[in-house]
Amino acid sequence: MKVGRLVLALVAFAALLLFPIGIANNYYIHLLETIMIYAILLFGLDIVVGYTGQVSLGHAGLFGLGAYTAGVLVTKLGAPLLVALIASIGVTALFGAVLALPALRVTGPYLAMVTLAFGTIIQILINEMSFVTEGPMGIKLQKPPLLGHQLDEREFYWLVAVLLVLSLIVVHRILRSHLGRAFEALRGSPVASDCMGVSVYRYKVYAFVISAGFAGLSGSLYAYSEQYISPNTYNFELTVLFLLAVIMGGRKSRVGAMVGATIIVLLPKLLDDVEMFRYVSVGLAVLVLISAVIAVRRERATPAQMAIPVVGSIALAGLAFWLDAMTDWRLSIFGVIMLFVVYYLQDGIVGFVRDALNLRRSKVVSDVSLDGASTPADAVSVAAAGSDGELLQASGVLMQFGGLKALNNVDLKVRRGSIHGLIGPNGSGKSTMMNVLTGIYVPTAGSISFGGRSLVGRTSSDIALSGIARTFQNVQLFGEMTAQQNVQVGLHHSFASNLVDVALHTPRYRRESAAAATRALGLLKFVGLESLALEEARNLPYGKQRLLEIARALALDPQLLLLDEPAAGLTAPDIKELIAIIRKVREHGVTVILIEHHMDVVMSMCDTVTVLDFGQKIAEGEPASVQSDEKVIAAYLGGQDIEAQPA
Ligand code: ADP
Ligand code: MG
Repeated sequence: MKVGRLVLALVAFAALLLFPIGIANNYYIHLLETIMIYAILLFGLDIVVGYTGQVSLGHAGLFGLGAYTAGVLVTKLGAPLLVALIASIGVTALFGAVLALPALRVTGPYLAMVTLAFGTIIQILINEMSFVTEGPMGIKLQKPPLLGHQLDEREFYWLVAVLLVLSLIVVHRILRSHLGRAFEALRGSPVASDCMGVSVYRYKVYAFVISAGFAGLSGSLYAYSEQYISPNTYNFELTVLFLLAVIMGGRKSRVGAMVGATIIVLLPKLLDDVEMFRYVSVGLAVLVLISAVIAVRRERATPAQMAIPVVGSIALAGLAFWLDAMTDWRLSIFGVIMLFVVYYLQDGIVGFVRDALNLRRSKVVSDVSLDGASTPADAVSVAAAGSDGELLQASGVLMQFGGLKALNNVDLKVRRGSIHGLIGPNGSGKSTMMNVLTGIYVPTAGSISFGGRSLVGRTSSDIALSGIARTFQNVQLFGEMTAQQNVQVGLHHSFASNLVDVALHTPRYRRESAAAATRALGLLKFVGLESLALEEARNLPYGKQRLLEIARALALDPQLLLLDEPAAGLTAPDIKELIAIIRKVREHGVTVILIEHHMDVVMSMCDTVTVLDFGQKIAEGEPASVQSDEKVIAAYLGGQDIEAQPA
């Protein structure tokens, strides 16, 4: 399989290189060159849009910035090609950072607005700063010399092809690495990312900066390719086109980016040429029909679901024959195709083809061999030598939501090496306590110290890295990632490799990556999920998802593990398994705080139990004494009997 793909890639690359020899027409060479240049930008944009799930409307601006950096350096300073390319990458990455640092504090529509404003400002600046950019006149430049040799059309094409492949390899390596997993994780569940020590904010900015760098490279190549740049190329329309290319081609896919680039370059030209459009629309209709038939026969889709794409593409072909000229209809057809994609091809063309043909994503989790997975016993590393005494000490914790005191003056002391139960009726503040301990909420008042250091005011990722791991009452997995990748996100802290290590696959990166893959398998084995390592987390049964969350939390090498109702929704055999796992965790020296509604679980496992009611601590002590405490019984009787408290 892997060899097959390599051969396919080599054949494709050879075809790309041979194209200008087979087809000597400069028009087509230039067209393919433009597609490749756009593809480089889209590789980068996909990191932001596809992986981290942010919307950027600023990429046309970054593209323009790259083009003008090269243009100005070449015309004003006579900079050589390599200097211009590297400077463009550097300048756009820098501007990307300046844009991202404040912009990514906000999300959703705000981010789109900020990036849109950025793109507009760049365009205006290029227009107005005529002393460097020549303003609306634009800049003319020549094809560059490389190492003393003047490149002609064809040689420049080859340069672009080589840079495309290099970009592809670098992007692919980034996305396969711990960095790529961080990008994907923060989209899957921001709160879980932070609690696994992967700072959502930092990695959003990181993704944006990398993406901007690719936009810069792409822009500078575009300047040489067109030999003329002017401000109005880098407008709003282009930015929308880029975004649609990613979505249409298929996000989280390099092939998708290339397909997307091809579409946005060819489609406008296609709509200018009615003859050509007729052929293509018929071809498309046939393709859609075949895919639909295959999809229905393989029971990947119902005939009803497939009806609209099929009818739509046939109607488009019909329209192409009915119309004499496309020019007036260009924009409308463009719009209809866009709508069609957004409604029916949400995973893009690549996703659609993959689905229809039942090709699953390659399940290679990492490039390293997975031999020699550690035994379960090695999986959980032993926490710092357990001196007795308090690991965690909270005093006078107040958490106020408006008028509601979810936690009211709560003291909590957790002994090192113990399993500490936290119980109470629904809404009594148990989960709130966990959120306060993990930095998701900052307490209104009170102090919390963990291993002698204060936790108040520190970020979730910082707290996680200092040794507190957790699971969530509502499971927070990275759904589109495999079980093993989920655990590998928890192992993010074990990587010291940077972007250069990842791009070059240095020995350090290979070592760390191999160790993390092995360790992740060991942890999966520890919770009994090793056979599901390559399954996407969202496809696991609920009980297994809860176990996976525990494995992921253990990957942090925590001193303290917080479990928020781990048995909720589990079947009786699953609960037994869970109890055994929690015991094993404790044997490895990890301290546990356990929120649980199943009283048999709490009573059989906990060394100490704290009871909350309406945000206040009403009892604390050994399980047996707490169970017979009158205040506790009364609190539970307000709802149900203590033994019968539902999950
Ligand atoms: P439980 O003990 O069931 O885990 P919680 O800690 O989830 O209880 O909730 C305690 C109380 O705090 C509830 O009344 C809940 O509605 C309230 N609460 C929790 N989080 C928030 C929030 N972010 N905003 C407002 N109220 C909240
Ligand atoms: Mg809760």
